[in-house]
Amino acid sequence: MNNTFIKKFEGNVKKTINNYHLCAKNEKIIVACSGGKDSTVTLYLLHKFGYNMEALHLNLCMGGWSSESLDCVKEFCNENKIKLHIVSLREVLGASICFISSITETTLKMNQPAICGILKRYMLNKKSRMLKADKIATGHNLDDEVQNILMNFFKGNPYLSLNLGPITGINSNKKFVPRIKPLYFTKEKDVLKYALAKKLKICSKACPCSIGSFRVDIRKKMNELEKKNKRIKENIVLSFLKFKKEMTKNMELENETNICKMCGEPSRKDICNACRIVEAIKNKV
Ligand code: AMP
Ligand code: ZN
Repeated sequence: MNNTFIKKFEGNVKKTINNYHLCAKNEKIIVACSGGKDSTVTLYLLHKFGYNMEALHLNLCMGGWSSESLDCVKEFCNENKIKLHIVSLREVLGASICFISSITETTLKMNQPAICGILKRYMLNKKSRMLKADKIATGHNLDDEVQNILMNFFKGNPYLSLNLGPITGINSNKKFVPRIKPLYFTKEKDVLKYALAKKLKICSKACPCSIGSFRVDIRKKMNELEKKNKRIKENIVLSFLKFKKEMTKNMELENETNICKMCGEPSRKDICNACRIVEAIKNKV
């Protein structure tokens, strides 16, 4: 039973990598590893499949949760002889996420999950580019993608979803390292089942940022609906991918990515969100 599940799970991930041309054996892949089940499984599988890969962990400096996550990633990479890079938010910005969001919540009207997402994307891209990576792999799974698509829809901005998909940023400016999601078609519950079956060292506590967010409500609702229609999540994602293909046919989407005037990183606006955050916390750290 376990063996059949493991084979099917691994086959599903291989199929996603091949069907969507996520990565090749001659490319350097940086796996963004939080210590949670999704990114640890991604790290484990890309290593098992023989890709040229290294791990990158961002220390968000959120007390005990961050140090536990860091220990998990360190132990996993040590055991599996995977090279690990660590970037600490306190070293880059001089403050923790909690401190930064306590300031930006009023000045920029951005909440902690938003700040966390912006800074993670910014630091991952910057460090991966420094490491001369061809691709950044993240642990996003099918459930995450469904939540992202629906959240953008509910916010009344479906165009934000044009940045989603199993592979993104492939033709954008050179400063942007393309991102891949090998677990794109695997359900969250199966990722956990796989991690447990393989006895992978994972940090099972959720990010303190995610508690109470709108995402949690959508997650619950989707799991309820899934009981009535097993393929509901795949169907949402596949419909979205068809829609995205049509939408981008006549759009030069990639040209929308410019360079931030302050830091030179890729940005849609003149000043990127990360720089707006840095400006807001200036003189306060
Ligand atoms: P999240 O935004 O927390 O749902 O995480 C989505 C993906 O981003 C994870 O699967 C990881 O690949 C990556 N990620 C999240 N947090 C970190 C972190 N602290 N360090 C490195 N990668 C991370
Ligand atoms: Zn910037």
